[in-house]
Amino acid sequence: MFELKERSGLARICVLKTKHGSVETPALMPVINPNRELIPPREMRQIGAQIVITNAYILKKSFGETVKGKKLHQLIGFDGPIMTDSGTFQSHVYGDVETTNLEIVDYQREIGSDIGTILDEFVEPDDPFEVAIRKVEETLRRAREAREIAGEMLLSTPVQGGLYPELRKLCAREISMIGDFFPIGGIVPLMENYRFGDLVDAGMSARIHLPASAPVHFFGAGHPMVFGLACLMGADFFDSASYAKYATDNRYMTPTATLHLEELEELPCECPVCNSTTGKELREMEATERARKIALHNLHVCFAEIRRVKCAIRSNELWEYVEERALAHPKLQEGLLRLLRYRKFFERYEAIGGKSFFYRHAVSLHRPAVSRFRRRLFERFFNQRKKQLLVVFPGRQPPYLDRWRANAEKILKLADADFIVPTPFGPLPLELSLVYPAGVAVLPAHPDRDTEAIRNAWMLKLAHSHQYGLAVYWEGEETLKALQMLVERAEETEEFLVRLVKRVCDFQFGVGAGEVLCGGNIEIVCSKNTGRIRNILRDGKHILSMRNDGFLNLKIEGAKLLVGHFRRPKMRCIVSGDSFEFNAKGKNVFAKFVVEMDPDLVPEDEVIVVNEADEVAAIGKVLLTAGEARYFKQGIAVRVRESVGGKDGED
Ligand SMILES: [Zn+2]
Repeated sequence: MFELKERSGLARICVLKTKHGSVETPALMPVINPNRELIPPREMRQIGAQIVITNAYILKKSFGETVKGKKLHQLIGFDGPIMTDSGTFQSHVYGDVETTNLEIVDYQREIGSDIGTILDEFVEPDDPFEVAIRKVEETLRRAREAREIAGEMLLSTPVQGGLYPELRKLCAREISMIGDFFPIGGIVPLMENYRFGDLVDAGMSARIHLPASAPVHFFGAGHPMVFGLACLMGADFFDSASYAKYATDNRYMTPTATLHLEELEELPCECPVCNSTTGKELREMEATERARKIALHNLHVCFAEIRRVKCAIRSNELWEYVEERALAHPKLQEGLLRLLRYRKFFERYEAIGGKSFFYRHAVSLHRPAVSRFRRRLFERFFNQRKKQLLVVFPGRQPPYLDRWRANAEKILKLADADFIVPTPFGPLPLELSLVYPAGVAVLPAHPDRDTEAIRNAWMLKLAHSHQYGLAVYWEGEETLKALQMLVERAEETEEFLVRLVKRVCDFQFGVGAGEVLCGGNIEIVCSKNTGRIRNILRDGKHILSMRNDGFLNLKIEGAKLLVGHFRRPKMRCIVSGDSFEFNAKGKNVFAKFVVEMDPDLVPEDEVIVVNEADEVAAIGKVLLTAGEARYFKQGIAVRVRESVGGKDGED
């Protein structure tokens, strides 16, 4: 019922299927108050609502049993999917509710809710541990009893646990075996008080322990300022009552703040409401009409932000986007910084490459894609090198290779050397200087002190750990002369570009891949226009191509060499027999046919599709990681690019 279509790290665009149609996520569900309808649900659909949420407890209380028989969709006037809430939030606000879990779940099923919620116990941020654990246990008990009577209705089972990560973990693990849809509960008080750091801890401690295929809902998150941050944590659904609640208080949303109508001479927005009225006119309007106008504006702002977040997910630029948003409020910065504490977890989901790396500020240099890059520099490059000489070239911005290659080649005639450029991404070997993120980074020519400090810290780490006989800073021809006296003459060295391809192979596929792939007679074909490396041929056979982000695409011949060298399941997606034939003809690999997959592969990584006998069917790109392929029953796990059957993959 839930399928992943596009992603940027943990953030994703998925499709949820319900009885009343499909919803594309991230999706915002406007809250419909059955007693006070500011905007008819039909109108909401035009603004962008694919799904709405209403409160079953209020429905039942206001209309009683008379609603029974009349179905929810008729009553609300919306023929798309409708989620219902249970009254838990009312119990948080008023201390108690006049219903039981079984009563309210039964009621939701009877009126035909698409996603019905159990009456979970709201854990308050300041609940003592004993209280919190009792509430979590009670929530789990209620989820189990609700499962028995939920029928075909998707069951929404919130993850409670307050600010206790171990309770969120316990609840997430247990409840994921019961429910279908997973709100992160108890976070409204955190958002109301701008405690975005705590929000991140609550969200992450649940997200990490929910299966990848679980639809995740940030319950009560209805302000656009948190959408991007929450999506980075893997949020799929939001709900907003604030658009209306704020409107009745004359509070006007912007993507990063809430303003009071009194403060506004100009309306800083391009929505149809703000284009056709002024702050003064709004203030002078009759109260109900004014509330309706502000509510409409607020909804426009919310849906526009959802669309921007989706754009950023599709272009794999959500970290950049959230960094930009975080500048708007120190508390959002706090949320982003807290999120970076989980970067080891994020590294598993971050795409290997990308079009470019836009530096926003020093915080950009802590993105998971960067921390993984640095780790691999040491694991897959420096720790493997025991050479005579290390030469450090100066350099602030790419392109580094064009600038230093000629000098590197001169030095190579004298000594067996490695070459690096100090960058804020770490000490960058010249052979890896085309690779994402460092090779495609857009940096200021004169970075701030924080950025300089990060660069220096990584140089220092190398200084403490390297195994070179001699390290020198390049200071022009003088350095060359000095080296002539200092070092022993090198033996025959290979062509610089062959070295480069080998080092990229090791860095991308794992240590040893370079020797395996580039063992024969290697010919490197460069673009006539740009001079960039395009294709790599071994003994006349095309084995690799270079992508724009400096990484390599495998060809079938190259894939066969790697399969012969690396042990299962490294670099592989092992598929069942039925799928193998299909993939060998160029069709994509569906998640349900994946038998096993290399757990170290990350999105956009090259992957070799094989059967259980290790015969190669195709090569493609990872869309779902090994962990995700295990949980998703729908959708594509590997996008096939080339197959042994010769047919091109579908893209
Ligand atoms: Zn507006």
